[in-house]
Amino acid sequence: MSGLRLSAVAISLLVSQSAFSAQFDFSDKLSQTDALVLFQSENEKASLSFLDKDTRAQLEKALATEAFTGTFGKMVDVLAPVDSKYSRIVMVGLGNNEDLNASTMTKLGGNLHAYLESKKVNTAALSLDAIEHLANHAELSAQLAHGINLRDHTFDVYKKTENTPIVSYHFDVKNANETKSQYAKLEHIQKGVFLARDLTSEIATRMTPVDFAKAAKELESLGVTVTILEPEQLIELGMGALEAVGRGSKEGARLVVAHYKGNDSTPIALVGKGITFDSGGYNIKTGESISRMKSDMAGAAAALGTVKAMALSKADVNVVAVMGMAANMVSQTSFAPGDVLRTAEGLTVEVLNTDAEGRLVLSDAMWYARKHFQPEIMVDIATLTGSKVRALGDRYAGIFSQDDTLVNELTLAGKRVNENVWRLPLGYKDMLKSDIADLKNIGSGGPGATTAASFLEHFAGDTRWVHLDIAGNALSSSAKDEVPAGGTGFGVRLLSDWLLQSKN
Ligand SMILES: [Zn+2]
Repeated sequence: MSGLRLSAVAISLLVSQSAFSAQFDFSDKLSQTDALVLFQSENEKASLSFLDKDTRAQLEKALATEAFTGTFGKMVDVLAPVDSKYSRIVMVGLGNNEDLNASTMTKLGGNLHAYLESKKVNTAALSLDAIEHLANHAELSAQLAHGINLRDHTFDVYKKTENTPIVSYHFDVKNANETKSQYAKLEHIQKGVFLARDLTSEIATRMTPVDFAKAAKELESLGVTVTILEPEQLIELGMGALEAVGRGSKEGARLVVAHYKGNDSTPIALVGKGITFDSGGYNIKTGESISRMKSDMAGAAAALGTVKAMALSKADVNVVAVMGMAANMVSQTSFAPGDVLRTAEGLTVEVLNTDAEGRLVLSDAMWYARKHFQPEIMVDIATLTGSKVRALGDRYAGIFSQDDTLVNELTLAGKRVNENVWRLPLGYKDMLKSDIADLKNIGSGGPGATTAASFLEHFAGDTRWVHLDIAGNALSSSAKDEVPAGGTGFGVRLLSDWLLQSKN
């Protein structure tokens, strides 16, 4: 496709009205762009014949000087000659065509957006000639746009507004309609991610269990059924563990249920840990990690974000998020070390450490999910243990299950969307024996991430069950690829991809 025709044929791919995608303009007129972005794979040199002579010579010289061969992610940027219609030309390496997929294109989009922003580019024309001969070119182009958008969405509500450049993108693609429809699917997922990120990034005093419940209520406009249980109802139902964790805060605990019933099959339950602030309780956190504890509700945020993504997608799935919400605070009414709590499952729990509260709220939420929905599969997602961070860091989430099929499915889904999981064992149930109760809430030594998972296993019943420990994955201190700093929304893309794939 001729670059000289760019302005005539460039389409504005991104037609969303989302308030989040503010850097895109939705006009299909491309009178002038600051930057022209070209791509080249290692397989084939990009044709530059459409550029005017001076621009082409300048770019070719720069590519030779940089020994540019199309290495994945490599960018060569030249300021265009004075007569050029562009201010700069950016050549982007695609690597090997065979390695192009959702994972790589999304990362590339994220890094390209960060680069153009750093150069204060206002408008960019992306010419995707280099991939137009590939069978999945529309999908790849859409994934590039997805990566750009994912990187762009940051949580700035407390910042003085700055004049940060707003990049508007114009994609020049071979099959615009197909690319648009592929992108529309990803955009639904994106909006779920953005919800999870915003809920996670919001400060704890403005994201209490009641605030979270209000945010969930907003999904009703998408056809999601939302149920909220208050502390008295939790007590009536016997959910003594969840109720106890919330007792130290003024509002108390909530159980928030968001059900998207896209078909009549047996539902899949996503159970989220929603500690809106975790002080540790009487076993108060003494390290600096306490300052990040607004993110201890990221599991619940991911579960809710996934339900939003499925509802927007009008997906052919039946999925319910059950979220145990509480602020783990210190007060006269807080639960205390040594207490014995009674879970709705009927098991009593000796509290040896009030900072191991996540498994307490999850135990009752898992019970509720099983009792009320008899799910086919139950996936819980939680920022559960520091032990998981010590074992796997922040590049992998921990996955625990006796079900090899589910572990494989979720591991593959994670690879596709750059939300990787790594399996850790169960099998330490015997370390949770208590002298006074049926269970205690921390193990006697042993691997902490696993003893926490083994605790939860008591509440899975006969249901096929997976536990995801996303501690360390939920709140990022620096941007990387398609993920900006702040709440990451980790889990929404993983779970959405898995749910959608499981239907195919
Ligand atoms: Zn805790």
